[in-house]
Order: sequence, then C-alpha cells, then structure tokens
Amino acid sequence: MSKQIQAIRGMNDCLPQDTPVWQHVEQILRHTVASYGYSEIRFPIVEMTELFKRSIGEVTDIVEKEMYTFADRNGDNLTLRPEGTACCVRAGNEHGLLYNQEQRLWYTGPMFRHERPQKGRYRQFHQFGLEAFGIATADIDAEVIILSARLWQQLGLTPYVKLELNSLGSSDARAAYRDALVAYLEQHKAMLDEDSLRRMYTNPLRVLDSKNPALADMLAAAPQLADYLDEDSAAHFARLQQLLTLAGIEFSVNPRLVRGLDYYNKTVFEWVTSELGAQGTVCAGGRYDGLVEQLGGKATPAVGFALGLERLVLLLQSLNLLPALPPQADIYLMTLGEAAELAALSVAERLRTVMPDKRIMLHCGGGNLKKQVKRADKSGATIGLILGEDELASGSVTVKWLREDKPQQIILLTELAAQLA
Ligand code: ATP
Ligand code: MG
Repeated sequence: MSKQIQAIRGMNDCLPQDTPVWQHVEQILRHTVASYGYSEIRFPIVEMTELFKRSIGEVTDIVEKEMYTFADRNGDNLTLRPEGTACCVRAGNEHGLLYNQEQRLWYTGPMFRHERPQKGRYRQFHQFGLEAFGIATADIDAEVIILSARLWQQLGLTPYVKLELNSLGSSDARAAYRDALVAYLEQHKAMLDEDSLRRMYTNPLRVLDSKNPALADMLAAAPQLADYLDEDSAAHFARLQQLLTLAGIEFSVNPRLVRGLDYYNKTVFEWVTSELGAQGTVCAGGRYDGLVEQLGGKATPAVGFALGLERLVLLLQSLNLLPALPPQADIYLMTLGEAAELAALSVAERLRTVMPDKRIMLHCGGGNLKKQVKRADKSGATIGLILGEDELASGSVTVKWLREDKPQQIILLTELAAQLA
C-alpha cells in the first residue's frame, strides 16, 4: 500500500457531519447582512504581495511573519490573502465602485496565515467580513456594530460575547501620542521583551497589544491615546458611544485596544469571549478612512469588520448551541425486481418534481429488500417507498413507515405528494 498523503498542518477538512453547522452559521450571516442592504463581493484568493504590505503595514505580525508568499512561474511576487479588507479595497478601486459612492459590501472565504496552529488558530481559516464605504459619520460605525450584535442574537451567543471599543484618532493625533509612548517605553526599556523592543521604534502602539503578562502593569500605566485624541475623533467617538447606548448595546472602552493592522483610524472594536481560551476575539473591525487613497483610489471613508468562522463554530459547539442535524434523506426509494429497478430512476425524478422540498434518496447498488431497508434506516428517512412489479403496473408505491408503528399503505404516485405533505 502506498503512503497516505496528509493535509497541510493547520489546514482543516470540513467533514459532512460538520458542514450543516457551517451552513447554519453562514445562512444566518447572509440573511442578516442582506437585511441591512449589504451586497456580496467576491475577489481572488491570491493577490500581489505589495497589496498587503502597503495596507496591513510592514511592521505587523501578518506581514512580518504570517504571510504565504511565493514567486509564481513568471517571477511575480504573490501572496495567499491573509485578510479581506485590502482585497475589497483593491477590487473597489479597480472597478470604480468607491469614488463618490456609498457601498455596503460583504464577503466570505478562506484566509491564510502561517501561525502556530492551535484551538481557534489555523493556517487556513475562514472569515466573514463586511465593509461600508463612502460614509464618514459615526452612524455607520454604529450600524456595523449593531449588525454584528444582531448576528450574536440570531446565533444565541449574546450572553457569551462582549464588545470592546477604542478610538485611534487621526494619524496626526497618533503621531503625537506615539512620541509620548516611545518616551515612556524608553524609561522602561530594561524590562521590554525582544518583540516589544523591536516594535518600540517601528510600531510602538503594537507594544500595547503585547500579551506578555510581565509587561501588563507597566503598559497599564502608559500614556493613553484618549488624552491625545484630536477634536474631530473625540466627537466622533462620543457620538458613536451615544448611538450604541441608545441602541441598547453594552460596551466597554478599552484604551489599549489598538488592533494588529496599520490601516485603522478613529473607531476600533472587538467582540471577545472568555469561552475559547487565548483565541478569544471572534470579530474585529474599525474605521479605515485612509486606506482607499493609500491603495491608489480617491479618498473615501470606510468602516468594516471581519469575524472568524472557525471561532464562531467552536463557540457554538462548546456552548452546545448547535442546531439538530437534519437527516440525509426524508424519503428512501427501494425496488423489488428487474423491471422496478429499471424504472426507479425515472420514478425518483417524478417524485422530486412533485415534492421539491423533500430529500429523496434512491437505493442504488442492488441487494435484497432487507439490505435496502437497512440502508433506508441509516439514511435517517422517515418514509420508505417500495417499488415492485405490482406497484409499477398500477402506477403506485408501497409506503413503509420507518419510524412509526403504522401499517404499510399502497398509494398512487399521483396522490403521493398530497398524502405525504
Ligand atoms: P488574533 O489577535 O486572534 O491573532 P487578529 O487580530 O490577527 O486576531 P484579525 O486580523 O482582526 O485577527 O481577523 C479577524 C478575525 O479573524 C479574528 O477576530 C479571528 O476571529 C479570526 N482569525 C484571525 N486569525 C485567525 C487564525 N489564524 N485562525 C482562525 N481565526 C482567525
Ligand atoms: Mg493574529
């Protein structure tokens, strides 16, 4: 026997027993975003590496160490997308969707990051994201957040997730804050770990995001971005909080929430849960008013979020909030004898035409009735139909109730849909 080839570490198969959960989640997501007037956009899985370097930022976890980057056969430098926002902006610019327009868009699909695989953290994972372009006011930030809150409500997750908010201000405000932060970090240089030391000058806000517990007290006492916010950003943030309060959305302001991507300004937010250990962020987003221009378009305000589907599914599983698995089939069609076997495919087609909402499985592969009934039982169907010579001659089937103690019935095919409805 030859050696089996395994999947790549951190890249998962989604097996038939799990796909119904994913479909359940995806259906709720699609339905909810549609109810806010968002349209789907699809873009390629591979983009020019430059796109992510220029948008996410050179000194970020993603660009420094997580991207799947390779030269293709022409020597072009390509990257498997690590996130969707940059791709969405690239596509929007390229097709003229953004300039002077409002767009509410959503996307979903696989993303790729070369991280250490663990529960809730994979190398191929799936995001569902949305982006609203062309609106600068805080009402759209609020709408995006309220929409996400509705998702949790639809999924039954409201009690298990908490909203954290912060404002990163304008880039000028951040620059002033950055100087103050670097000065503070320099005073505490001796205690900084390697990562933080490296970031102190290249991307000091990211030091605030450090998960190193030894730095927690020092970072808690660091200067706060809130004290450096420009007037416009402060007013925007106050308005957002007012709108969320009016909408009955609970939140806490986390002054150390800075996000791992460079393109954000003003609003940033995360929905976090304590049910998934260290991988507690299920959904994250914010405003990125500079990105469209930075990627070659005309200045366009924008706000959005992305949520991790694996983490949502894990959360639903760990809380036992999964919907009941539907059976493979509702009706299982069996045959007795050569003539019935020959007719069965077309009888099954007729049944599917008259009962479009039923899952109708035809027994294939022959065998006696006992074997067929066993298969019917395994399919989960509640109704077995037996097509034999007599039935064929009279245009009927024998109905065998698979889950109920009821006598068999012979029913005309023409009446079957009405009888089984
Ligand atoms: P984290 O802090 O957990 O690394 P992040 O800030 O890198 O998250 P984003 O880039 O904001 O994450 O992505 C949005 C969401 O995508 C995350 O909140 C998370 O739910 C999900 N996500 C990110 N990276 C992974 C991964 N490697 N595996 C599974 N889900 C992920
Ligand atoms: Mg990350």
